Amino acid sequence: MHAPPQSPIALSFEDARHLVEEHAAKLHPRGKELTPLLGSAGLILAEPMFADRDFPPFPRAARDGYALRAADLQHLPATLAVIGEIRAGGPADSGITVEDGQAASIMTGAAAPPGADAVVMVEHTSRRGDQVEVMKRVLAGDNIVPVGSEARRGDRLLSPGMRLDHAALAVAASVGRPHLLVYSKPRVAVLATGDEIVDISAQPGLNQIRNSNSYSLAAQIQGAGGEPVLLPIAPDEPARLRELISDGLEADLLLISGGVSMGKYDLVEQVLADFNAELFFTAVKIQPGRPTVFGQVLCGAGISAREVAPVPSAPKYFFGLPGNPVSTMVTFELFARPMVEALAGMQPKKLIFLHVKLKSEIKVKGGLKRFLPAILSGEFEQAEVELAGWQGSGDIAATARANCYIVIPPDRDCIPAGEWVPVLVR
Ligand code: AMP
Ligand code: MG
Repeated sequence: MHAPPQSPIALSFEDARHLVEEHAAKLHPRGKELTPLLGSAGLILAEPMFADRDFPPFPRAARDGYALRAADLQHLPATLAVIGEIRAGGPADSGITVEDGQAASIMTGAAAPPGADAVVMVEHTSRRGDQVEVMKRVLAGDNIVPVGSEARRGDRLLSPGMRLDHAALAVAASVGRPHLLVYSKPRVAVLATGDEIVDISAQPGLNQIRNSNSYSLAAQIQGAGGEPVLLPIAPDEPARLRELISDGLEADLLLISGGVSMGKYDLVEQVLADFNAELFFTAVKIQPGRPTVFGQVLCGAGISAREVAPVPSAPKYFFGLPGNPVSTMVTFELFARPMVEALAGMQPKKLIFLHVKLKSEIKVKGGLKRFLPAILSGEFEQAEVELAGWQGSGDIAATARANCYIVIPPDRDCIPAGEWVPVLVR
């Protein structure tokens, strides 16, 4: 028994993306866990992190040179008496106080002595015995980082929802945290559908295709902070499809690949109707990836009364991603990623396209926003981008050669070489 499919809801790319972002904003991560600092790169921080002391904790010399009083450098070269040496990690109190006409040799990372208000770089000095000649003027404050100027004890340095990258890990290390509280990874179910799709362990017949989407999606899920859960391949047959969708709805998010186009055996929407799924959109005006489906299955008495399909234990979002491998990859990046990231506890972030100079002309049919696999090359400030020369949304090899997507607005059909084009970096 099938409910009739809802009439199609086709949105512009921007509207579809905003709608996903609105739903993502309602999601919460499933829990928190303690994890060692080493190995936590890429995880999402679940606690605020505060400065346990002032940063820097002492007035830090930022250069190797001489600590002195800037006022002594009115006339250059200035000759000062060297009264001692201060090294990084030396005694907390060096016993040195710089007076008028004096300087102390100092190393980067050492505490500037009382009396000194600047450090002149050793390159601008010439040492003769216990005297130093200074050839260059410095101003008061130069090359000394004042106590607490980077952060005061108790200041918040990191916030929950930040992805831990190398800089964030440096902060955690600098406040002495060998373990961090991070969000638990959400479980994201992946359901590949299609009678022609076979497991990679099987020898495919001439009319069969190996399942690649489950693996590209698994990698994308991991990259977004999720834990992929691969379900068995679903045939284009309602009963088994329903069973597997039901299993998938037990995860935190369900991604279905294939079966969402207009073909006679594209049954995903029809079967989702058995779950009384609410569909937010069933198409996006993009290429590749037009027949993307986004929706939610609610739990509750009203639905279970239908007794058509088992109801998940909590409301669950799902995506029906078009099965063409490149469409699957692109639509994950554009729409599924923000949902996985939100479930992973990440603060929402907007999708940003960078602009890069186009290397060779592009001609397309207008009407849809396009995300075409492309190669970003060049060096330093001379980046350029060109299409990867793909043969359509099934061309996995061209997409594997690509490292970005060129974004082509719907109102353009020819873009000349040399124009700056928006690029989604992969
Ligand atoms: P569909 O969206 O089901 O109409 O599938 C569109 C195209 O993508 C067809 O050529 C399928 O064979 C192919 N396809 C669907 N699912 C997968 C998959 N899991 N792995 C590789 N190709 C797939
Ligand atoms: Mg199919």
